[in-house]
Amino acid sequence: MKKFHIDHRNVHKLKRLLMGAGIGLVLLGFLWPPAMVAGGLLAVLAVVVVRLYWCCPHCGMGLPIRDGSIQYCPYCGKSL
Ligand SMILES: [Zn+2]
Repeated sequence: MKKFHIDHRNVHKLKRLLMGAGIGLVLLGFLWPPAMVAGGLLAVLAVVVVRLYWCCPHCGMGLPIRDGSIQYCPYCGKSL
């Protein structure tokens, strides 16, 4: 089995997945409150994943959070 590796290319995919599931659970929480807690935790996890892994593979600097389609590192200028 191939181990899932988190890097700057798939971190935004993972963030969307976690955020989508988190928002879905928060909405479900209006019917069943414990789901809201789980949804909140997933949303926090999404932010943590981005904070930890959304960085340049060349220089290691954190990349702009909002720009998921960035092509070049703004710090070292290398292709991402
Ligand atoms: Zn860089």
